[in-house]
Amino acid sequence: MGKKGKIKGYKKILCQKCTGLCCRYFALPIETPEDWDDYDDIRWYLYHEDVDVFVDEGDWYLNVRNKCTQISEEDYKCMNYDLRPKICRGYTEDTCDLTSEGDEGYDYELHFKTPQQMEEYMKIKFGQNVFKKLEVKKKKKKKKKKK
Ligand code: SF4
Ligand code: SF4
Repeated sequence: MGKKGKIKGYKKILCQKCTGLCCRYFALPIETPEDWDDYDDIRWYLYHEDVDVFVDEGDWYLNVRNKCTQISEEDYKCMNYDLRPKICRGYTEDTCDLTSEGDEGYDYELHFKTPQQMEEYMKIKFGQNVFKKLEVKKKKKKKKKKK
């Protein structure tokens, strides 16, 4: 989200070298899952392309890896800097996960990138037979069709 010029310190230098990671996704808070159905909804989110789900400071987020149309692929600067939305204005090098942690990436408590990862998590949380419920429903449907 940086603008050309104005390199004052270490964090801003990191920002200048970054390819604008903060402009390549948006994350929406979702309700903290409480039961099987809630976790299964998240598993469904994860079947979609370019989506992941993470937990940060106890809060759950749906992350959509979809880049903003206003980022330049030539210099990774905002092409609409003066009119950039409010949320972009509040995002600074100090609040950026990349620069504030001083490491190479984002550090989440939990990060689900595939539905299989959620399936494994659900098995740990609800038991190995957690998906039997779905299989039973499938069998019942087959029986109904036979009638
Ligand atoms: S705020 Fe963070 S993610 Fe965004 S350009 Fe700067 S270093 Fe990169
Ligand atoms: S409007 Fe500009 S600062 Fe905001 S996400 Fe898009 S490119 Fe980044």
